[in-house]
Amino acid sequence: MDTDKGIHSREHLSVKLLKAVLFGACVLGIGLSLVQIILDARRSSQAIDRKAREMLAMIKEPASRAVSRRDVDMGQEVLNGMMAIKSVQVAAIRLDGTPELAMVERPVFASRYRLLSDYIFDPIRIYRQELFEQEPGKKYLGELILSIDTAHEGKALIQRSVVVFFTGITRAIAMALLLSLIYSALLTKPLQRLIRHLSSINPQEPGQQQLPMPKGNENNELGLWVKSANKLLTAIDHHHSLRQKAEARIMRLSQYDYLTRLPNRRTIQNRINKLIKKAAQRNENIALLCLGLDDFKSVNAQVNFNAAELILIKISDRLRNHLGNRAYLGRLGEDQFAVIQTQVNQPYEAAEMAQALIRQLDQPFEINNEQLSITATVGVTLFPGDGADVDTLLQQAEFAMIMAKSRSRNRYQFYVATIDTEIRQRKKLEMDLHQALSHNELSLVFQPQFNYQQGRLIGAEALLRWKHPEKGLISPDTFIPMAEHSLDIIPIGDWVLENACRQLHQWHTDGHQGLRMAINLSAIQLQDQGIVERVAMLLDKYQIPPGALELEVTETAIIEDVEASKAQLENIKNTGVTLALDDFGTGYSSLGYLKQFPFDKIKIDKSFVEGLPENKSNVGIVEAIVQIGKSFGLKVLAEGVETIAQETFLTSTGCQEGQGYYYGKPLSSSAFIAHLVNQPNQPDYSNPGDS
Ligand code: C2E
Ligand code: CA
Ligand code: CA
Repeated sequence: MDTDKGIHSREHLSVKLLKAVLFGACVLGIGLSLVQIILDARRSSQAIDRKAREMLAMIKEPASRAVSRRDVDMGQEVLNGMMAIKSVQVAAIRLDGTPELAMVERPVFASRYRLLSDYIFDPIRIYRQELFEQEPGKKYLGELILSIDTAHEGKALIQRSVVVFFTGITRAIAMALLLSLIYSALLTKPLQRLIRHLSSINPQEPGQQQLPMPKGNENNELGLWVKSANKLLTAIDHHHSLRQKAEARIMRLSQYDYLTRLPNRRTIQNRINKLIKKAAQRNENIALLCLGLDDFKSVNAQVNFNAAELILIKISDRLRNHLGNRAYLGRLGEDQFAVIQTQVNQPYEAAEMAQALIRQLDQPFEINNEQLSITATVGVTLFPGDGADVDTLLQQAEFAMIMAKSRSRNRYQFYVATIDTEIRQRKKLEMDLHQALSHNELSLVFQPQFNYQQGRLIGAEALLRWKHPEKGLISPDTFIPMAEHSLDIIPIGDWVLENACRQLHQWHTDGHQGLRMAINLSAIQLQDQGIVERVAMLLDKYQIPPGALELEVTETAIIEDVEASKAQLENIKNTGVTLALDDFGTGYSSLGYLKQFPFDKIKIDKSFVEGLPENKSNVGIVEAIVQIGKSFGLKVLAEGVETIAQETFLTSTGCQEGQGYYYGKPLSSSAFIAHLVNQPNQPDYSNPGDS
């Protein structure tokens, strides 16, 4: 309410006060005047009586004389003297038992106050005085009668009363006005000033404008009121600022990621929403880049939780520093970041941005005095080309990133409509894969493995093949991840184990007793509780001698839950199989954890064998791996050996085994045996004791 503007004038405190004081003063004035008038009337009444008696006393003597002499003239004269007094209406001298001796009379006084004065005094008052003879007999002679008209005294009384009444009221009103002026000066005005001040206070910062202390009121109730109100205002202000801080904190928490302090997913979505509206108006393009860290789960498993968080903070710092104001950065999820790039004229600008982001992670991160390399893959969508709304754009950027990861990592990938088709096709393929076993579309091929010391083939790795009825041969790199995703890998893996073991048994019974079979075990299979029993059962069922069955596990399969996989691998190993660590060097190979696992062999990934011995960095890596193997008492097998130069180098380092096209491509079982027997140096296993 705006100071006194909002108050109806009738409701003003000063008006109310004035009314109350006026009413009180009037009542009091009237009351006091009435009391005064009543007292006056009483006195007047007494005065009438007194005067009448005085008059009677005065004429008693001459009247008695006139009566005793029976002198009418004298009596008349005495009475005439009475008529000089105005209030005497009738005066008479009566003889005992006879009519009047004398009498005077005048008409009743015609006064306009008569009605009231008659009410107060009675219209006529009659006084009598008995008359007696003078000494000695004192004989009763008659009486003196005096009738007094009270209207004269009444008139005077009423006139006085009117004056008393009106001066009383006037005095009361004057008092009331004076009082209300004093009230107004002492109370209403200061209150109005305080109200005006109060309503001018900004409710956002009530403590900033304290109420002024009305002068001279410092120590009274008003002063106390102002002090209390000011205290209250300060308290409200304090409270207000606390609440604002809390609100700001909640706002921050709900909009920003607690760890990296980057905008969170919802904030990113809002931001994109705003930006695409603007871009649509200005006919501009926006690029949305979704950056996903490669294999962050493994990093998580490798370092402790705090270190993993620290890495995320460091990554976000690098990205933030690199981007500055050029693009909007946020965190989409655990290991995913989003970058929004506006005013993109050509798609290559987004590609350059993606490349630059990836490059930001080139330098390894130092965590707990260890160098840790992290790579990322970026998916890119463009507005408006790839989608018109936030959800579509984000989803497509994430799809593009996931698709890029499934091919190879540490790169970027644009979203294209074909990815959508690709995803649909993938879904269809996943469904087809589910039927592949029952439709007999799966088969095994066997790739030879060569031992350098013995100079001969010593076994094979069983590799799975899927012949799709329409699409033909599909690469295991495509369908194995699908089967892992749908968990079809469990029945499929069982099928591989069963068939590879049966094949090995067949070879052994066919006379190739020394042959060894290596089988790939997926991460999902490793987690399967039934795997140990199953392996033991197969060894028994196909009478496979100890050491003839080798199971290959990748680093990524064991790193997710180190303790569980360690126990599981121990149990598997106890059945009598050997264990190989597949694709060594591509994961997060750390010597520390390698020691903890019961591996017998490491398989150097083919990417490190490529270009040997010219590729100097690969030379270094392979030499180091062989060295690690030696120091841990592990055998080392090199994958992807395609040339004699590679073989020469590998043997020079001390690598014990090789696998690759140089020794043979993956072959059907019969082709494998044909290939085997064609080799020089191959022992004739059909001759027992020759192995
Ligand atoms: P891997 O276990 O590393 O298998 C070796 C892969 O390298 C095979 O590809 C093989 O054909 C290929 N390779 C062998 N020598 C050479 C060479 O000299 N040069 C080149 N460029 N490549 C060579 P493939 O058969 O396509 O298998 C791909 C991956 O699929 C395998 O990698 C393995 O991880 C997975 N896989 C295959 N069969 C199975 C299976 O039965 N179970 C599971 N869980 N995974 C399997
Ligand atoms: Ca393998
Ligand atoms: Ca491998």
